[in-house]
Amino acid sequence: RAKSRAGAAWLFFDQGMNGASRARLDTEQALGRAIAAREFLLEYQPKFRAGTRTLSGFEALVRWERPGRGRVSPGEFVPAAERTGQIKALGELIVELACTQLLDWQRRFGRAPSVAINVSPLQFEDAGFAGRLLARLAALGLPSGALEIEITETAAIGHLGRVLPQLNRLRSEGVACALDDFGTGQSSLTMLRQLPISTVKLDRSMIEPLPEVQASAVVMATCALGQSLNLEIVAEGVETEQQAEAAEALGCTQLQGYHLGRPMTPEQAGELLTLAFAAQ
Ligand code: C2E
Ligand code: MG
Ligand code: MG
Ligand code: MG
Repeated sequence: RAKSRAGAAWLFFDQGMNGASRARLDTEQALGRAIAAREFLLEYQPKFRAGTRTLSGFEALVRWERPGRGRVSPGEFVPAAERTGQIKALGELIVELACTQLLDWQRRFGRAPSVAINVSPLQFEDAGFAGRLLARLAALGLPSGALEIEITETAAIGHLGRVLPQLNRLRSEGVACALDDFGTGQSSLTMLRQLPISTVKLDRSMIEPLPEVQASAVVMATCALGQSLNLEIVAEGVETEQQAEAAEALGCTQLQGYHLGRPMTPEQAGELLTLAFAAQ
């Protein structure tokens, strides 16, 4: 379906579409060539341990450097790639790019930091996804613990039948899994117990109002449950020192956000790693 849709899209291109749907189609049509031409790169946003504020790892965030257009936001092209089915090819490229970076850091520093990649639930429709990822790590001689995957709660719940067996496999082989954007979907706290996850990432919308009383109560309750389930709790989108201190006081175990570090180039991330590994 996806293929025929992308292929036939040009037919409708000029027939009275509004600007928004025209832009969507344009993105969808350009993606195939862009993936083949490998126009994508990863930036790395650091995560830090609460309290000590030492580096705990990175999250890889994909960027599209579109010739003649500049950077396109993943908020725009990831949903487009999901609509057309191209997210599978793009996802494979992202895994490859992250592994190549890990290998580079492993060679340079003698060890690899933890790098998390965002995985779309559609990638799990391919039952071979987890196996290929593990095989790639093994072929490169990378420890499976160096890679973590992030999946959104809405996605995890909506595709549980496909996602769960592969998450279990990854988990048993040492690839950690984080539940992303927690607090935005319709998942219940019992989901935390049912999914084979090691980490919960509290969405920026839960962190932004801190230290407001009611938001604090929700974060504290989530952290308490997370602690009893032995989960890491990452506060996402920390933009101020006040939010950082509130998140720490409420029980978050890691912090991520512009206040602590923006998504950065591999070179900048490497500099951070140099300092972090030297301090250990
Ligand atoms: P996400 O995984 O929840 O990533 C966090 C997003 O928030 C990133 O936006 C990041 O740059 C941004 N962010 C981080 N700290 C702050 C902060 O303090 N304040 C604010 N306002 N924003 C902050 P980005 O890079 O535009 O990515 C957006 C979303 O696109 C991601 O949300 C993720 O769902 C998706 N995405 C990004 N990279 C990939 C990828 O490689 N594969 C897939 N499937 N999805 C990806
Ligand atoms: Mg994420
Ligand atoms: Mg997130
Ligand atoms: Mg988020």
